[in-house]
Amino acid sequence: MNESDSERIASFLESQKIKPTKDIAKANFVIFNTCGIRQMAEDRAYGQIHNIHKLKVESRKSKTIILTGCLANRKDVQKRLKDKVDLFCEIKDFQKEFIHFFYCHPELVSGSDKIKMPKQVRHDKFSYLCITPQYSNPHTAYVPIMTGCNNFCSYCVVPYARGREVSRSSKEIILEIKNLLKNGCKEIILLGQNVNSYHGACNMKHETKKINFAELLQLIEKIPGHFWISFMSSHPKDFSKELIETIAQSKKICEHIHLPLQAGDNKILLAMNRKYTAEKYLRLMEKIKSAFAKYKPDELYSITTDIIVGFPGETKKQFLESACVMKKVDYDLVYFGQFSPRPGTVAYEMKDNVSKDEKKKREFFLNEILKKTAFENNQKYIGKILEVLIDKKDGSNYFGRTHSLKNVKIHLTPTLSLSRRGSLVGKFVKVKITKANIWNLEACLPVGMAKLDIKP
Ligand code: SAM
Ligand code: SF4
Repeated sequence: MNESDSERIASFLESQKIKPTKDIAKANFVIFNTCGIRQMAEDRAYGQIHNIHKLKVESRKSKTIILTGCLANRKDVQKRLKDKVDLFCEIKDFQKEFIHFFYCHPELVSGSDKIKMPKQVRHDKFSYLCITPQYSNPHTAYVPIMTGCNNFCSYCVVPYARGREVSRSSKEIILEIKNLLKNGCKEIILLGQNVNSYHGACNMKHETKKINFAELLQLIEKIPGHFWISFMSSHPKDFSKELIETIAQSKKICEHIHLPLQAGDNKILLAMNRKYTAEKYLRLMEKIKSAFAKYKPDELYSITTDIIVGFPGETKKQFLESACVMKKVDYDLVYFGQFSPRPGTVAYEMKDNVSKDEKKKREFFLNEILKKTAFENNQKYIGKILEVLIDKKDGSNYFGRTHSLKNVKIHLTPTLSLSRRGSLVGKFVKVKITKANIWNLEACLPVGMAKLDIKP
């Protein structure tokens, strides 16, 4: 979400004739779009702000430091950085705050006549999302559909940093996607802290009604063209039957489900305020797997999750419940997070009594289970001919992803004469999977198919 927000900040600054530079020493403005999910991200921001400030003092050149994102609203952060940061502003207010700041400091932008009030400025809760972003990747685009969170998981800073849930109208979302597709985009990644609790306005003939996430996906599916749809992050409590059916019956939605588990023990889940039990999560997983088996019996799908290790009070026995769920689900990938106390959250007041070392050991233990299931799942791909979307070229290999979002390294063969064909980056290509590793697949172009199967 922060990457997507940065794309909007970049386009706003360009509209104000403020140009980007690769040389930070030359920059007049340095904007930090911060993440505060874990202490590590926060510490990285402190380190970089310190370095930029030092550069500013030593060079005696004017350099304005602006901080936005997760940390902007935190009083302790503002106090700590008050001598280094010139402006703290919440992401939802950044247009208004930047304009006000530039007006008050016309010397920074060589004359206030340069500052323009954009036509698009709206004054609702998340006006910044209506800015047309400067997409950093022409083939794969993030499209935020909602922001904020109402769930208040006890460990998480998001509801404090981003506020309550607000959803964009479906009309605005569809318009953004149609424009992207017109410009050659191949993959749309729908974003939201809780993407599946989307509840946005939709104009139907003469009335406006609210539609849910499954209905939004159905509308996007109907947009003509060959493109992929994926989304993150979903909350298990909002993963409805209608949503499962929509995903499993879709041609465009990727066969990939990211469903954060967080913990496998019911007492820990309760302390986390997750609103489900391990049994309920597993039942949901079964429903998802059965729907794929029913509607896409020949397609491979992937399942990924987030797990926190070392939540306050998590005993070894409780931790092993996470291992137990992992073994039952057979995940393709897990994003592990060692519990990090976040100021202002409920869990911050709990005793962080699992040592750093123990957290590391628990993560290592779970990662060993993951390596096994990920490798076994990847074996099923060997010999398959699949469509991949090419993300990049590095040396003599291309790298892309399958429709189940598995990473694929593609070896070039004599069939693929690059000089004649040009770059394949951003194109759909059919490949034959030749090898399965733990974290990726390897492939080549099937002989004789190279010409036929490259879609523009
Ligand atoms: N909304 C999603 C959900 O319901 O799970 C997750 C979004 S959250 C921004 C991304 C991930 O960061 C979480 O799934 C969680 O595993 C991790 N996370 C959040 N707060 C954390 C904390 N205090 N310590 C460790 N990991 C944390
Ligand atoms: Fe954070 Fe996700 Fe829980 Fe919201 S649902 S509080 S974003 S972990």
